[in-house]
Amino acid sequence: MRSHLCGEVNEKLDGRTVTLCGWVDRRRDLGGLIFIGLRDHAGIVQVVVEPGSAAFDAAEDLRNEYCVRVTAVVRMRPESQWNKAMSTGKIECVAESIELLNTSAPIPLLMTDEDGEEVRLRYRYLDLRRPRMQRNMRIRARLNQSIRRFLDGEGFSEFETPILTRATPEGARDYLVPSRVHAGQFFALPQSPQLFKQLLMMAGMDRYYQIARCFRDEDLRADRQPEFTQLDMELSFVDETGVQGVAEALVRQVFEDVLGVALADPFPRMSWHDALDTYGSDKPDLRYPMRLESIDEHVRQLEFRVFSGPANEDGQRVAALRVPGGATLSRKQIDEYTKFVGRYGARGLAWIKVNELDAGIGGLQSSVAKFLDDAAWQGIAAQTGAASGDLLFIGAGEWLVTSTFMGHLLVRVGRDLGLARDGWAPLWVTDFPMFEWDEDSGRYAAMHHPFTAPQAESPEALKADPARALSRGYDVVLNGAEIGGGSIRIHRPEMQQAAFDLLGIGEEEARLKFGFLLEALKYGCPPHGGIAFGLDRIAALMAGEESIRDVIAFPKTTTAQCPLTDAPSAITAEQLQDLHISVIARNKEA
Ligand code: ASP
Repeated sequence: MRSHLCGEVNEKLDGRTVTLCGWVDRRRDLGGLIFIGLRDHAGIVQVVVEPGSAAFDAAEDLRNEYCVRVTAVVRMRPESQWNKAMSTGKIECVAESIELLNTSAPIPLLMTDEDGEEVRLRYRYLDLRRPRMQRNMRIRARLNQSIRRFLDGEGFSEFETPILTRATPEGARDYLVPSRVHAGQFFALPQSPQLFKQLLMMAGMDRYYQIARCFRDEDLRADRQPEFTQLDMELSFVDETGVQGVAEALVRQVFEDVLGVALADPFPRMSWHDALDTYGSDKPDLRYPMRLESIDEHVRQLEFRVFSGPANEDGQRVAALRVPGGATLSRKQIDEYTKFVGRYGARGLAWIKVNELDAGIGGLQSSVAKFLDDAAWQGIAAQTGAASGDLLFIGAGEWLVTSTFMGHLLVRVGRDLGLARDGWAPLWVTDFPMFEWDEDSGRYAAMHHPFTAPQAESPEALKADPARALSRGYDVVLNGAEIGGGSIRIHRPEMQQAAFDLLGIGEEEARLKFGFLLEALKYGCPPHGGIAFGLDRIAALMAGEESIRDVIAFPKTTTAQCPLTDAPSAITAEQLQDLHISVIARNKEA
């Protein structure tokens, strides 16, 4: 039907006749001449319809989003009318004929970034016509293609694993599907293919990957989707370096293929402890030039208990964050940051404006200057590298809480003041704790998942000091986002049992939930490990989008609904009966 794509028509086609198909992006009637922006997935081209041309009558009737086929002659625009922002900006197409392929009802969207998300998702097929969304979807497609090409070259086989399955161990709530055939029984949708990929290693498949849909029924945060996509990988006969080597090369290759960007080689590495201690986050954004400095030694002697208390206490810290040029922040802004860190458990936030470094304490304006002495200030200034015009924020208290709220502060202030450098900052975070203590249940929970191997070499060594045990897990972080995570797995039944014991998963529970895996572990399971990448997040980073919804063709809203299909929806009494389900009626008024 067409000879070229709209977005491909350029000055090289000057004088040629082209046939284009697409949608009317915009129609302007300049009392005589009619201009049509004709759009397809490749871009927009300007079509001119001259009065008296055979196309004129048809052009007069066109409205936005009518679908048309246009035959036209390409001609150069006068140089003064070149639009350098568009690949088609030096030419225009003089219409010879216009065939109306379909009309369109008036469009319920503005078809700009101004449209609200609810209406965009309700009319997603129109929203996706926009160049920005076309670009995003194609970035994602290129990403998938690049992944497959790379992994194929590395000897990986692509697998599919069940969607109707049983509960998997990622720690979120399951989506459940009632069985019609087996009354009262349910499938769970997979939170990840974790156990199946491990079984494939036990099955001798050696290198597995899958672009896998995962389902987690979690309380939705702005950037979560109930179903999302992972690039899931698993390898046999590897240690950490084996998995990380391939995974890192993969990330570099896809960035090269999709964006033409060369990422660091190798990625920097940081232990979980150092990441928290220095950046206050297990996913540090290394684009910010700021760090947390432990200033405990300088404040230990002070009378001021808010600092000297934590500074003298094991497991606590006093951390300073230097904000370059931050002395310009107003009291109101500082108060807002204080409120902000409160959300992450901070009980206060001290601040020091360095108006004039050379004047010592006298050159400071501060919430705490009166509690400092010269020696303390000199120590703090030297360690943080404070200069005139800077501001220091200081937080104190329990190590993890303090690190974490100061880390959130680092990113927030850094973003507000535009302190991030351009570009990409990948890194590995390693040496995670094996367990975290869960206050609510009063027991340990797996930091990654219960199949992650500990660094401890024997079950006895693991049980000797679980609070300090480190795991063989790792994350890949890019610009402050965790884009992937994985681990070397436990491959011996005794070690698996020890991990379950520490997690308070009794024998009966383990048998019920993961019996098939425990059984498979008995039959010569190879050492293995893997990783899963969040494809939605990677695509969003590549597309420069904040929200993963903008790189998913048909996402759900933040309240887990689909305005387009109106899912989830009620089902008929017959269907419920088939599924052996009776619904608890809710009186809406009550
Ligand atoms: N299944 C894990 C997850 O979804 C990733 C992995 O350990 O490979 O986080």
